[in-house]
Amino acid sequence: MKIRSIKGFHDILPEDIGRWHHIEEHAKRSCELYGYSEIRIPVLEFTEVFARSIGAATDIVEKEMYTFADRDGSSLTLRPEGTAGVVRSYVENSMYTKSPQIKLYYTGMMFRHERPQKGRYRGFYQIGAEIFGSEAPESDAELIAMISGFFDGIGLSKSVTLELSSLGDGECRPAYKTMLMDYFIGHKDELCEDCQRRLDTNPLRILDCKQKGCIEISKNAPKMLDNLCDDCTQHFTRVKESLDSIGIPYEINPKIVRGLDYYTRTVFEFTTDQLGAQNAVAAGGRYDGLVKELGGPETPAVGFAMGIERIVLLHKEVIPEGFEKKTDIYIAYLGEEARDAAFKLAYEIRSSGARVEADYGGKSLKSQMKRADKSGARYTVIIGEEELKSGIVKLRDMEESSEHEVGMEELKKLASELKS
Ligand SMILES: [Zn+2]
Ligand SMILES: [Zn+2]
Repeated sequence: MKIRSIKGFHDILPEDIGRWHHIEEHAKRSCELYGYSEIRIPVLEFTEVFARSIGAATDIVEKEMYTFADRDGSSLTLRPEGTAGVVRSYVENSMYTKSPQIKLYYTGMMFRHERPQKGRYRGFYQIGAEIFGSEAPESDAELIAMISGFFDGIGLSKSVTLELSSLGDGECRPAYKTMLMDYFIGHKDELCEDCQRRLDTNPLRILDCKQKGCIEISKNAPKMLDNLCDDCTQHFTRVKESLDSIGIPYEINPKIVRGLDYYTRTVFEFTTDQLGAQNAVAAGGRYDGLVKELGGPETPAVGFAMGIERIVLLHKEVIPEGFEKKTDIYIAYLGEEARDAAFKLAYEIRSSGARVEADYGGKSLKSQMKRADKSGARYTVIIGEEELKSGIVKLRDMEESSEHEVGMEELKKLASELKS
């Protein structure tokens, strides 16, 4: 049998990596611009880190985690998302003693055993950020502004819509949950099997069900936004006012539930309709109870995450070309002696910072020029016997199909200008 990758796992190939780098670099720069520091956490945690934070009665924990026993029998899980591990690290390293406010971002692979779909994989990459220690609504707005700036920076601001809601807190959500349960009990027979079960464990999740019947019943269900306590109402109002003050548009969507239990108050999604059905490409919210839940002191927090595959897909849709990694200068040569010179020249020009390519396979000049063309090189340097003697080489401008002669100094200067 031929070896192959696991279902739902994929390679990111060289032809796509330029776009990936472009997007990842923009995201990292956005985080740095807003004062976040990168944190690198393990891909593997004790299962309870996720079970206790994401919530035992969520799809992720119930059905989607890659969980297995370690050699000593302890239960381990490949991280299905980043926040739980970051919070675990925040608590374990007592970061709260170092500064009243800590801002962290992370990137890396996450693992969820979902049904693979367009742009959704079982092994996928995420970038996310968290602010610990601020309950100010301005922090929510600032985080949202950063994500909005990121989409703007990669040319996707017109392709995404910001949707906003509030899930309330420990003060107002329990009463709302009861209200919701009473409502759904009256429609129990019309709910799907999963939702009948959710009725006892987590009625909020019914609002998130994708089954037609459940969507229909959910339409008339009581809304969290209509049942917020005064503090939550005020907090939500300030988030909206802060966004208004910097001109960031949003839509209120009371149906945002998020697939995780830990959210409180602000929740948001950046959605797009350019990838088929309306779909979130970035999402997050406030989770004021989670740090305490994982053994730390009471610490308000807000964060977000986005799956890179889906952003790459959207980005390709909007800007199809122009992110391939290209050679700056290709070095072609004629004859054995020139080959040695080509080898040395390639080494020297690279130290000026340009991407230089050469093929020492002893092929004809014609086939070398073909390769130069294929590499996307902006310029090709041609070295022959004449050039060896004079120290002046032929420089071919591949875009303009013109040629002229240059000395070594001029060539190095050009190379440092091409520096990508
Ligand atoms: Zn359902
Ligand atoms: Zn409240």
